[in-house]
Amino acid sequence: MDAEREVSSWVAVAERITVLTGAGISTDSGIPDFRGPQGVWTTNPGAQRMFSLERYRADRDVRVQAWRNRRDHAAWTARPNAGHRALVGLEHTGKLRALVTQNIDGLHQRAGSDPSIVIEIHGTVWQAECLECRDVQPMRVVLARVDAGDEDPACLDCGGLLKSATISFGQALRSDVLRAAVRAATDCDLFLAVGSSLQVHPAARLCDVASGAGARLVVVNAQPTPYDAAADAVVRAPISTVLPALVVTARSDAGGPVNRR
Ligand code: NAD
Repeated sequence: MDAEREVSSWVAVAERITVLTGAGISTDSGIPDFRGPQGVWTTNPGAQRMFSLERYRADRDVRVQAWRNRRDHAAWTARPNAGHRALVGLEHTGKLRALVTQNIDGLHQRAGSDPSIVIEIHGTVWQAECLECRDVQPMRVVLARVDAGDEDPACLDCGGLLKSATISFGQALRSDVLRAAVRAATDCDLFLAVGSSLQVHPAARLCDVASGAGARLVVVNAQPTPYDAAADAVVRAPISTVLPALVVTARSDAGGPVNRR
């Protein structure tokens, strides 16, 4: 049996599925990934320095550039694609218990995923947060200030540095969010890692958690990942085509559990 048919059959009999998504699910919505062939860092390796919390705190020029990048972010106009919608369909079967995403673009929720099952481990670009007092506000409010000429807007409450509510390099993940993600990886019988290079930790380690807890591990990604060897199946195909096909056989009443332990 080829990998796609085999994974479809696993989806059909699974009872508790957790999906981990990465930037690759949103490239067909026009949002570039980081490490794919057209990725932001593949085409411009220097861009990575923008994503360090230390640089952001220390360097006004980095912040000014970061706000310009936020203002021009593709997320504001991007629309969900068939990959995002396939996961909404999977949720409606009752099998999808958690959708852990490394993405900051909000496209799962815009596609119709229930926000209560979406775990945004790297935060969201739709909100801005004060690095000092932790006040959170809608990104559009801060971007309106940027548009009005404030190149490096400060927190209006405490004067601290504002940043998009996303996780930068050198910035800890929120512990409650990480705990929820680990719980979701532990409590599933099928774990699908979709559109991620699986090079960013601790997100990638959720594959180890799921596999260690007895779930089948499936990697769906165009390029090889460090978890391919450990996976029960690897599907190397375009996500917006293959994901709808993989989950179409899902039936809430089909088969029994597939936990291997
Ligand atoms: P990554 O760039 O490291 O890897 C993306 C992977 O997806 C690549 O291996 C690429 O080959 C694959 N891919 C791209 N388009 C695909 C498609 N249509 N079909 C199949 N595979 C495809 O991304 P990552 O692993 O998510 O980690 C990067 C970090 O970047 C994450 O923390 C995330 O927060 C952030 N990021 C998010 C977005 C977003 O929100 N859309 C965009 C860029 C980066």
